[in-house]
Amino acid sequence: MTNKHDHLVKSISNDGMFRAYSIDATNIVSEAKRRHHTSDAVTEALGRSLIGGVLLSSSVIKGRETMTIKIDGRGPVGLIIIDADANGNVKGYIQHPKAKVTSDSNGNIDVGKVVGKNGYMQVIKSQGGDEPYTSNVELVSGQIGDDFTYYLAQSEQIPSAIDVSVKLNQDGSVEYAGGYLVQKMPGASGDAIEKLENHLKMMPGISKLMSNNQTPADILKQILGSKNTKILSKTPTQFKCNCSKKRFANDIAGLNPNDIKQMINEDHGADVTCNFCGNHYHYSEDELKAILILADSKKHK
Ligand SMILES: [Zn+2]
Repeated sequence: MTNKHDHLVKSISNDGMFRAYSIDATNIVSEAKRRHHTSDAVTEALGRSLIGGVLLSSSVIKGRETMTIKIDGRGPVGLIIIDADANGNVKGYIQHPKAKVTSDSNGNIDVGKVVGKNGYMQVIKSQGGDEPYTSNVELVSGQIGDDFTYYLAQSEQIPSAIDVSVKLNQDGSVEYAGGYLVQKMPGASGDAIEKLENHLKMMPGISKLMSNNQTPADILKQILGSKNTKILSKTPTQFKCNCSKKRFANDIAGLNPNDIKQMINEDHGADVTCNFCGNHYHYSEDELKAILILADSKKHK
């Protein structure tokens, strides 16, 4: 790993027919691994999901909207939950961080086996005040890239191609992680689509490109052609959790007051661990008494 910073680059073809985004997410996936203590198989599965989450959210939500993606293929990892916003912040939860599958003779992990494919992907878009928009699709392969591509075609009606990859070092640390997304714009001609599809098939995969030290901007030029690529923006992306002691206090206040009283009188305090980032929060008896007052005031509203 190097000290380069994760970032997302957005581009559009000069003819306006396609847009393409590419991300270096090496630090995001390293941070997820560090926080969740994942096995190698899970680092790859969660990593691909985080990368897909940033690519999807940055292409279909904007402003202060947020997106939650639930992936459950009924495989050894169980449920994966990704939370992303439109500004490059992402966090992830995985049900079984230590799940393992046997790798092939080259040491490659089949992510589809880890995730499973007999399940669904659910995407929830929240605009703040309004009812969130929820959409479900079945998983295609559990390889994650295909599954995001299928979601975009089925639920958003945007023909796209998504490729995501996580490469680990021998010791399980993240060597590189990243991905790209290409989308058809309304004006794309049939000929141009066919040409791009053929080009993508011929092009080396994202894993190969990243192993050759190609930056996201380099990768976009490979996809759209160096003379046809107009770079629109380059934004930092990061693993970031928005949990806080106050936020969890609010959750506790929503519990049955008798449960809070039990925490005060029997447990003499409470400890909460965030599922997304692993941060711990401790509440003393006095803090819980204050929360109990808050809970009562909520009840009488
Ligand atoms: Zn957190």
